[in-house]
Amino acid sequence: MAATYDAIILGAGHNGLILAAYLGKAGLKVLVLERKAVAGGGLSTLEDPGHPGFLHNTHAFFLRAITAMPWYRDLELERHGAELIEPELNVVLLTREGRALEWWTDFPRTYESFARFSRRDADALRRWHDEFVPIVEGVLRPEAEAPPLPPEERRALLTRSARGRRLLEVSALSPLDFVQREFEHPTIQAGLLFFNGLREVDLRLSGFGHHIPALLASPAKAQMAQGGSAALARALEAAVREAGGEIRTMATPTRLLVENGRVVGVELSAGEDLRARHLVASSLNPHQTFLELLDAAFLPPLLRDRAAAFAYNLVAPLFALNAMLTEPPRYAAATHHPELDRAFMVIMGLEHLDQFPAMIRHHEQGTVPPPIMWGACPTLFDASQAPPGRHTAFMWEKAPYRLHGDAANWDAARDEHGRALLRLWQAHAPNLADALIDSFARSPLDVERSLPNMREGDLLVGAFDHGQVGYHRPFAGAGQYRTHLPGLYLCGASSHPGGNVTGLPAYNAAQVVLSDLSLAADWRPAPLAERLGRL
Ligand SMILES: Cc1cc2nc3c(=O)[nH]c(=O)nc-3n(C[C@H](O)[C@H](O)[C@H](O)COP(=O)(O)OP(=O)(O)OC[C@H]3O[C@@H](n4cnc5c(N)ncnc54)[C@H](O)[C@@H]3O)c2cc1C
Repeated sequence: MAATYDAIILGAGHNGLILAAYLGKAGLKVLVLERKAVAGGGLSTLEDPGHPGFLHNTHAFFLRAITAMPWYRDLELERHGAELIEPELNVVLLTREGRALEWWTDFPRTYESFARFSRRDADALRRWHDEFVPIVEGVLRPEAEAPPLPPEERRALLTRSARGRRLLEVSALSPLDFVQREFEHPTIQAGLLFFNGLREVDLRLSGFGHHIPALLASPAKAQMAQGGSAALARALEAAVREAGGEIRTMATPTRLLVENGRVVGVELSAGEDLRARHLVASSLNPHQTFLELLDAAFLPPLLRDRAAAFAYNLVAPLFALNAMLTEPPRYAAATHHPELDRAFMVIMGLEHLDQFPAMIRHHEQGTVPPPIMWGACPTLFDASQAPPGRHTAFMWEKAPYRLHGDAANWDAARDEHGRALLRLWQAHAPNLADALIDSFARSPLDVERSLPNMREGDLLVGAFDHGQVGYHRPFAGAGQYRTHLPGLYLCGASSHPGGNVTGLPAYNAAQVVLSDLSLAADWRPAPLAERLGRL
């Protein structure tokens, strides 16, 4: 007889685990299926096989404001062992001339750093920060933490309040327009766009102009998990197990089982059927969920075309260089900026706005752009990630998935490219020449091999254009975490509000699922329309 659960979740990344924990706490018998040997997905920390005691965070590392996330509180992750560190000098952009543009957890110190580049820009920073704090708190944060509203309803509600109208007005710009209109110094312009255009949306797209001021106003800063990113996954696993949930690794589903127009379970590659009384929720991408796991007979042609057309981020793929060191990188710029010895995220090679269009062109052509790289030395803040007295550090850069037209070319090019990146890093941190014990590189193709949901190496699991935002993410007819088939839900980064370790796709999916099952959820926030209507 097939084993029966109330809910089966596909993929044990942080989103799958968060949904599992909420459903378990609501009294459902939950199973999470994971193809890898270890749960956590992008929350991955590996011990170096050649160098015992050196831990590498091979995917997500900069965890944005995790301690402020509602699920972090609801699932009591600190009780389950999670500990997040938020370094004070949160981000530094080093220029060619050895200047440092700094973002501190303390806003006045950030203001001072900006003022050393341009007093006018520092004043603009403060103005936008102050104006957007209530917009982030009143609109953007509630919107991220709730199932999205239909676009017309959203617009009508926002038009009723001053905050909402201001948001709509700023959103109408592209991030590039916003930065060029409001800021003058090339380093500041480039630095602001780094966080937005480079990491999240195409900076040329109108409709996203609010991203920069939202970023300036957000209390959300970069954090890291004590013990490595996987430590956060271990805490999530503990929350799932405490709620009675089961996590089965090395388990790859081959087919969704559909009976009488309803998804009722999953077939495993081992030829085993697993039944789900209420639902199957997929944290995988739409290609996997709809085209690989669902028989064509159960997918209307229109939805099949939309799933097939789901697009991935051209500029999201990363190339990574991980190093093992006898001492932390010592940046030459620290001679004039001693605080750099305690900097968390360090950005190099970014000088000017024009580098962004050039980077997009390189990605379109399959060539590697002149490197803009950023990374950290985790052991500066958490000595447990290396043997005593030793350090780990890494650098990332944007790199095209299809190198010279074919992702397979990465296997031959990877190590040489890693050495080139190391030389550039060394130009900023000369001590690396002597401090290096060993290093290894990972390409966008390695990312996809490791996490096939990150198709084309897209770590955000889906672009933010092509209408793939908000109510219609991943596509019209599969937004709001529900699909065309009763019993089938979505809960991963391909759903609103998207990729990165936010846990919010799962948090929102949990709200929808529990509401559909008429199960109590005292943690559920008031409906979004009501909150926006009260502004
Ligand atoms: C190099 C790199 C650096 C990154 N840096 C950051 C960062 O600093 N900060 C940040 O916030 N985010 C970062 N990210 C992005 C972040 O890791 C992802 O956006 C996030 O992990 C998505 O979460 P998820 O739970 O939706 O999916 P995932 O974490 O990808 O989890 C999906 C799970 O499903 C499993 N799976 C896939 N296919 C199947 C299948 N067919 N059957 C069963 N299981 C399957 C996978 O093995 C995985 O465990 C980075 C990603 C990469 C690759």
